[in-house]
Amino acid sequence: MKIGIDWDGTVSAAPEVFKKIIEAFRSAGHECVIVTWRPPLTNMEGPCELWPDMEKQFKVWGFQLEVICTSGGAKRDYFDADIWIEDNPAAVLFNLMSEPRFVEDVTEYDNDDLELQSPGFPSVPVKWAQLKPTGHLLDSPVNFKEVSNA
Ligand SMILES: [Mg+2]
Repeated sequence: MKIGIDWDGTVSAAPEVFKKIIEAFRSAGHECVIVTWRPPLTNMEGPCELWPDMEKQFKVWGFQLEVICTSGGAKRDYFDADIWIEDNPAAVLFNLMSEPRFVEDVTEYDNDDLELQSPGFPSVPVKWAQLKPTGHLLDSPVNFKEVSNA
């Protein structure tokens, strides 16, 4: 199986636990890939660089995973996972329409006004970090109240 694993708020919340989980999946023959809403860090040579915190954690773990940076794009459009491990389930289905500020200032993590979009749905105004609904969508086909309490 293909396992898509979020980084911020997921691996970063319990990196030593995720080391064991990832090792267990990999030893059973499953593919584990980090899929993050972060933008890619590129260098002028061409290939993407690892984010420094990811590179540091991979060194601690003693192994490295492929990292897919979607720049806020719906993760399912970038990786065909059989199983997602994600603290913000909406990130799998929805495109982030404004850039989160916490990348530059972690104190903004819970105060960021964001907007999500997905084909066939009205845009969703949310607050980082648990993508709490802030607007009109409680009667939409997607029940974000339940999603945000997950
Ligand atoms: Mg996350």
